[in-house]
Amino acid sequence: MTREVCRKELAPRVDAFEREGGFPEHAFRTLGALGLLSLPYPEEFGGGGQPYEVYLQVVEEIATVWMSVAVGVSVHALTCYPVAEYGTDEQRHSFLPDMLSGDWLGGYCLSEPDSGSDVGSMATEAARADDGGGWILNGTKAWISHAAHANYYTTFARIPDLGAKGITCFLVPDGTPGLSFGKPEDKMGLHGDPVAQVVFDNVHLDPDRRAALFDALAELRGRSLRPCKSHDIVARRGKRHGDAGAETFGRSGEKQCRSADTAHCRQIQRRMLARRTICATQPTVKASVRTSGAPAR
Ligand SMILES: Cc1cc2nc3c(=O)[nH]c(=O)nc-3n(C[C@H](O)[C@H](O)[C@H](O)COP(=O)(O)OP(=O)(O)OC[C@H]3O[C@@H](n4cnc5c(N)ncnc54)[C@H](O)[C@@H]3O)c2cc1C
Repeated sequence: MTREVCRKELAPRVDAFEREGGFPEHAFRTLGALGLLSLPYPEEFGGGGQPYEVYLQVVEEIATVWMSVAVGVSVHALTCYPVAEYGTDEQRHSFLPDMLSGDWLGGYCLSEPDSGSDVGSMATEAARADDGGGWILNGTKAWISHAAHANYYTTFARIPDLGAKGITCFLVPDGTPGLSFGKPEDKMGLHGDPVAQVVFDNVHLDPDRRAALFDALAELRGRSLRPCKSHDIVARRGKRHGDAGAETFGRSGEKQCRSADTAHCRQIQRRMLARRTICATQPTVKASVRTSGAPAR
């Protein structure tokens, strides 16, 4: 089915979007309506209830036709993960069905101008609102796929008094006062994946917009925050399993995709895809936690 949809719905649009840029919203709505944005999530909330292997195969199939959309699918899957895994039951029931059906498309706001691989140096802050009812976000995120096109932004911010261990996760709806976007980055490729800065200027969020990711990170107290970053996990798993290919993905850096060498660029894009998709897998995160000796959830 995925192959057929890609051929009929995606392939005819690839050239124009990649030449002229723009956000292929139609592609995501189509994939969402067919259940291809929700594969690894529970059926109870409208997910596909499929193993991650199936999800990865689907992303791979999409990537063979349109890499930008495959990146977007994996970004969207990432945006759902904190709610599905660390949200309250109420959050899961109120947000996940729209997220998983693709009626809402997500942006994933982790990277910052001065905080890429080193997530712990993140500067975006979340403070309690003066009235005690919710949170105020301030900071700038960088390289955010779907910026200005998403319906919500899964956003990581630091609660200052708690240091690096206070990094937690918030859902910021599009249109929230104080939320704005930079000009799209002028990339060498992936033009159907517009990326831009996302600015949070005194963005006020209701209390229910915080997923309890902090509680999960607290389990890793005293340990690296790396379980948040895909390529580190892939690298460490690859190394453990003697998979030399996976290990070479570990530190090659997405910025290399700006290489003028097309063959090299394609190779890096494939690696990027592997990193991003594997990042979304709960079994991967669990495996990483167990290896480091922290208590399994
Ligand atoms: C097309 C595109 C889309 C993106 N979409 C998103 C998105 O939707 N959301 C989001 O949050 N981010 C997004 N990003 C950002 C991406 O996740 C970051 O670029 C990535 O995390 C690396 O950060 P950085 O670019 O600051 O590189 P840096 O962290 O500065 O790393 C530069 C180089 O140094 C290496 N390096 C870093 N630390 C170490 C170390 N300790 N030891 C050895 N080597 C090291 C890296 O592997 C890399 O090669 C996107 C980027 C691109 C290019």
